[in-house]
Amino acid sequence: MRTNYDLIIVGAGPAGCRAAELACKRMPDWSVLLVDNKTGDDWENYHNICAEGVSGTALKEILPEERRHIRHKLTKVEEIWPSDIRVESEIEGYIVDRKAIMKDQAENYRQWGGEVLQDAVVDIRVSGDVCRILTKGNNILTTKFLLGADGANSTVRKRVFRSESEVVVPVSQYTSRSGGKPGTLVLEYGAKYKGKYRWAFPARDGYRIGYPTGTDAPSDPKAHVQGRPIPIGLVNQLVMGNVAIIGDAAGMANPVTYAGLRNSWTSARMVIDAMAAGDLQRFEKEWRESPLADPSFLEAHRILRNSDDESLKKLAEHLRYGPNMWAIISGIVKTPGFQTFYRAHVRKLSYGW
Ligand SMILES: Cc1cc2nc3c(=O)[nH]c(=O)nc-3n(C[C@H](O)[C@H](O)[C@H](O)COP(=O)(O)OP(=O)(O)OC[C@H]3O[C@@H](n4cnc5c(N)ncnc54)[C@H](O)[C@@H]3O)c2cc1C
Repeated sequence: MRTNYDLIIVGAGPAGCRAAELACKRMPDWSVLLVDNKTGDDWENYHNICAEGVSGTALKEILPEERRHIRHKLTKVEEIWPSDIRVESEIEGYIVDRKAIMKDQAENYRQWGGEVLQDAVVDIRVSGDVCRILTKGNNILTTKFLLGADGANSTVRKRVFRSESEVVVPVSQYTSRSGGKPGTLVLEYGAKYKGKYRWAFPARDGYRIGYPTGTDAPSDPKAHVQGRPIPIGLVNQLVMGNVAIIGDAAGMANPVTYAGLRNSWTSARMVIDAMAAGDLQRFEKEWRESPLADPSFLEAHRILRNSDDESLKKLAEHLRYGPNMWAIISGIVKTPGFQTFYRAHVRKLSYGW
């Protein structure tokens, strides 16, 4: 294995696998290394923890022509707010097999000449145009470009950018034979979820039920509960010299829906396009101007986080006939100061998944 690369990508999750695949396709002359600290069952278990819900637009981002790796088609979102206010929206969405998607991307990457290393990045030193990387397995690697796609506890973010997301929400999830509805994302809001919600999504073998850790418990005490933090709130900087961060490492999950797959895939495409164009800074600007990063999502999260059940009920009343333009107008007129809340709850249908 060589020790010097044009590009090293840390993390073979949704963001890293997509970036790796695109890097080899768009920059065939570059030497590229994808590093992940997990392999085999460890990697499978880590990437099991996801409800795998995406919009049709998200799927087009990675599979423009075909529809592979779909487990369920989704047609509806049902939101349950305090006092049993129910808000229904029609969607075109899917539950996907995220691991199969990542495996295909990693296979394309390998076939196009990309290299893979199973090791943990533990330290990074940047000096001018050169990044020096130290791994747990005592590999010392150098690279011109470094891409951090290493998730919520990103080493690249901590060592190079020295920043954190505004909030990190630990969530728990288990699979149950019941508790959800076919073809529907069921989301339950309440003050106890502190800006988050309880969800029930169709899954391969029943429903994926999730909630912020500590707020609920599975009805079956023998259920296998898995947990993971989700960072909420974009970090201060996405590009520093020749280093960039994407996906959960950069706090890109949507602050209202907490969905991160589309944002991981889209940020991977944007950052590789910017690298290929020789203008990495362009990525920072493009992401911040993207509707996926609309600041109203984070503001709406803050409002939800600080609302009691009575306030949530009042906010949701305007959404009762669906999150649409009328909801925004009625909400703004009757609850001044909450424009961003309604803007986010309408825009989440187009840009939240
Ligand atoms: C319970 C739950 C349910 C979710 N449901 C949905 C959903 O329905 N829809 C949706 O869109 N999103 C969902 N999300 C969010 C989504 O899973 C994440 O946003 C997405 O996984 C982020 O991808 P990523 O590649 O940025 O990070 P990750 O998936 O965390 O991947 C990071 C990779 O980096 C590796 N790594 C970490 N540190 C190092 C290191 N130091 N050295 C080498 N490798 C390293 C890890 O092993 C991992 O493979 C959910 C999240 C959770 C927790």
